[in-house]
Amino acid sequence: MPARKTPDGLPAPDEVRAKIKEGEAKLPSRDAPSILLITIDTLRKRNVHYFGHPKNTTPQIDALLEQSRVFDMQTAAPWTVPSLASILTGLPFSVHQAGVIRTPQKSVDSALRSDVVTLAEALQQSGYLTCAFVTNGHLLEERKLGFGRGFDYYYSFGDKHPAKAVAEELDKPRDWSRVRGIDALLGGSGERLLKLFQAFARKEHARGTFFWVHLFEPHNPFKQRNALLTAMGHTPPNAPNGALWLTYDARKVFRNGEGAPPQDLVDTTRIVYDGEVAQADLIVGGLHKHFASIAADGFTALAADHGEELFERGSVDHGHTLYQELIDSFFALHHSQLEPRREAGLARHVDVYPTLCSVAQADCPDPQKRAGAFGGIDLLTRTSVPIAVAENPELFEDRVSARRGNDKLILHLRSKRYELYDLSRDPDELYAIHDDARAAPLLRSLEALVAQRTEARAAEPPSRELEERLRALGYAR
Ligand SMILES: [Zn+2]
Repeated sequence: MPARKTPDGLPAPDEVRAKIKEGEAKLPSRDAPSILLITIDTLRKRNVHYFGHPKNTTPQIDALLEQSRVFDMQTAAPWTVPSLASILTGLPFSVHQAGVIRTPQKSVDSALRSDVVTLAEALQQSGYLTCAFVTNGHLLEERKLGFGRGFDYYYSFGDKHPAKAVAEELDKPRDWSRVRGIDALLGGSGERLLKLFQAFARKEHARGTFFWVHLFEPHNPFKQRNALLTAMGHTPPNAPNGALWLTYDARKVFRNGEGAPPQDLVDTTRIVYDGEVAQADLIVGGLHKHFASIAADGFTALAADHGEELFERGSVDHGHTLYQELIDSFFALHHSQLEPRREAGLARHVDVYPTLCSVAQADCPDPQKRAGAFGGIDLLTRTSVPIAVAENPELFEDRVSARRGNDKLILHLRSKRYELYDLSRDPDELYAIHDDARAAPLLRSLEALVAQRTEARAAEPPSRELEERLRALGYAR
């Protein structure tokens, strides 16, 4: 059902509420626990206070984690599209294929394979009412990457490329006189999301509703939030409250090999990022509180799509490497009857789908039938911890990684070069180990993973639209 939207692209909460009241809108038909899945864009695990960050960045998230089953989790990819697709399908990129194929000329979006069943589709099939409230340009309905599949209501809003739009407006990150006007491009998307959710989600959704909410904070460009920074003991940088910290020049420094960014830029960026994390934290707290008030028997699930590099390698960005600052993450599941504790053993993005299917008591296709050991398993009943793989799917700079215990291997697919790290001794991945015997089992896993790409592509040729775009770029099959 297409949602009506206000001129700025937002659905009007009053209209939504009126429809529900009049019984025009669809209501859940299944008597099973409601589920709220919150995904946070670009949240570094190491900046969450619960996981050891020295500043109290996340009082709301910490409180939720204290009452939840908590898993250390590795993301499926270092950026939004493939990661969220893995969360929503239980499959790795090699099988679901949602991401970008990068050619020398430009990037080409590739959508979720049409024969893959999403969590929303499976829950909808089993009688759930399915509702999404998402802010990220990649998730916009009109991008047609497949994220709206299976949703009765799919509200997507946000600038297509906010960071790029801001970059085009600003010559320099510290030209504060020009920052104010640009603030409108991005500001407060989380607050609008929370208001919308509060208006939409009502007692009628106490059972049988699946909500997915995707927050854009703390994605860059980072907004300076002085009150939140002061509250956690940071001294806010010397810029107006609400100013945006643009990081594209730092990225250029890194990409062009022009040397290290100035230390004050590094320090300031890290401080301002903490404020964005605190803002995301406020929104998560509000979402969970409202959900708990309407669905006492509901499950709240919390995950991040990937992290962010804050100058560990000389840059600020994500999507460009497979180091821990981008793929180390966490997952939390809250329910009043689920005993809170932190679980041992790494979980994976792909495990979210079967876990939520299981708590919904829904009949979902088993991802392991499709993707073998790379498919997700139910985290509440698992008896083993599979190898966790991550993929950075690009046609010409293709990297994949595998992790078992503290051994982490990154394989560069084109050059066949690998980097092996022992994360217990070298958590920052600075000293690659040369040990072919130790690398061998991880390399074998990655070969099996990548083989699935070929099988997947052979089974379903790319859509006509993608094929035409590839042909136009000189990549005729
Ligand atoms: Zn993202």
